[in-house]
Amino acid sequence: MLWKGRRQSDNVEDQRGQGGGFNLPRGGPGRLRIPIGGRSGGGMSLSTIIILVVLYFGLKAIGIDPLQILAGGGGLAPGGGGQITDNSGEGTGAPASDEMKQFVSTVLAETEDTWSGIFQAEGLTYEDPKLVLFSGQIRSACGFASSAAGPFYCPGDRKVYLDTTFFQQLDQQFGASGDFAQAYVIAHEVGHHVQNLTGILPKFNQMRQQMGEAEANHMSVQVELQADCFAGVWAHFTGQKGILEQGDMDEALNAAQQIGDDTMQKKTQGYVVPESFNHGTSEQRQTWLARGYRSGKLSDCDTFNTPI
Ligand SMILES: [Zn+2]
Repeated sequence: MLWKGRRQSDNVEDQRGQGGGFNLPRGGPGRLRIPIGGRSGGGMSLSTIIILVVLYFGLKAIGIDPLQILAGGGGLAPGGGGQITDNSGEGTGAPASDEMKQFVSTVLAETEDTWSGIFQAEGLTYEDPKLVLFSGQIRSACGFASSAAGPFYCPGDRKVYLDTTFFQQLDQQFGASGDFAQAYVIAHEVGHHVQNLTGILPKFNQMRQQMGEAEANHMSVQVELQADCFAGVWAHFTGQKGILEQGDMDEALNAAQQIGDDTMQKKTQGYVVPESFNHGTSEQRQTWLARGYRSGKLSDCDTFNTPI
């Protein structure tokens, strides 16, 4: 990716070396993880919600504010949202280089520009997320987390959390190298932020507490594949700027392959347990990333009403 010399985002908070003592949680039940089981309850089906989301921009035109509908009237209290984790394993805790910070800041800036443009085209305002760089451990509005949990997005404070040693792990342990593999990881987390802004994530976090584990896992996969698709949408527009290099998209697709649930489970435990999948198989992750990339259309990222 031809990222050097491009705008860097001001929304990066560097908390490396602070050991996580900085950012006090704002209350709430603390860290919720996917998958999380629950019992009973009913409520609106997510398909209905997603149809609304897909119609989001259309509804705007007739004076309805879909964000208000989808946010469910405060169903997600600050700190009450489940953190969306992406991956696992041990980080080394080594501080990231300044160049790494510059890279992350530049990719984040590119996501800001792209998503602002997409929202603006529909008469909406994109609110930038913050991205927190940390080392070792961190406190978020979603609770305490260690690097081992991998990058995550916390809807409660609208921040992406990233220990960049994950990128070394991605390269060395998972066999996903290249700067655009890393950009994909960031864009995926930003995809969760887009889901938060459009009401998908709050609804999911609310609904999954009323579901059994298998059902919650399945919906988690739908959420995650949509974030992959949104990452693809971002890559589509980034490509149009002429800053993708030969092989960049292959790096991202390879990363999606390497961190698929089936591939990861085979590597870490030697066998797969499909009911436990919560991010999607390698093939699914590649498919949805490629799908977003091909068209650049959000409407092609409806993982809730399309067979995945
Ligand atoms: Zn995710």
